[in-house]
Amino acid sequence: MALIRWLGHAAFVVEVGGYRFLVDPWITNPLSPYRSVESFARDYQEIDFIVVTHGHGDHVGEAEELLKRYKRARIVAVYELAEEIARKAGAVDRSVPANIGGYIRLGPEIGAVLTPALHSSSTGSPTGVVILGEGKSLYHAGDTGVFGDMRLIHELYKPVVAMLPIGGHFTMGVEEAVKAVELLRPSIAIPMHYNTFDVISADPNRFAALVRERVPGVDVRILKPGESIRV
Ligand code: ZN
Repeated sequence: MALIRWLGHAAFVVEVGGYRFLVDPWITNPLSPYRSVESFARDYQEIDFIVVTHGHGDHVGEAEELLKRYKRARIVAVYELAEEIARKAGAVDRSVPANIGGYIRLGPEIGAVLTPALHSSSTGSPTGVVILGEGKSLYHAGDTGVFGDMRLIHELYKPVVAMLPIGGHFTMGVEEAVKAVELLRPSIAIPMHYNTFDVISADPNRFAALVRERVPGVDVRILKPGESIRV
């Protein structure tokens, strides 16, 4: 059983195969139930992996502070970004610098693949990530526009869950995210990266309605910040 918990914006806690991942750890974003790393740490004793999809502040978030706080946690990101965050945190020995395209072995029967993302990044290339464990594949798209090779992500990894930005302006909006669902064909789609700020206002119910209409069989799960699902 994998557990996926949304903390608002693009931040997720993903527990799979006995490991805990924190993806795009802006855990103090305006929607988040947490206002500090300390309050987060009261709920989570250990983090195994911190994954940062790209070098923008709303995704790097508290990665540095978290790496300092969680002494066992390793940072997984595109090469330049992982090295930069690890260096700032004084944790170069816990950096997993990687790149887009192939399996990153993180432990026995747990791994990840960095995927392309159509976006920008202040350090390294922007990415998404597929987390692979328990025979399941969980895709977090990062910040991205829709792109045709999402079909390849479906063909190669068959994600059971797709976490997709729907807020527009910096990423896919609702229309494009529905197209992404069509290409990815997950069992469950979770909207993210919306309503954090006015500029990325979007209606997740409209996303759900359009997916129901155009890609029947996909379950859109609209999470409240702090809420989780098991898959
Ligand atoms: Zn971004």
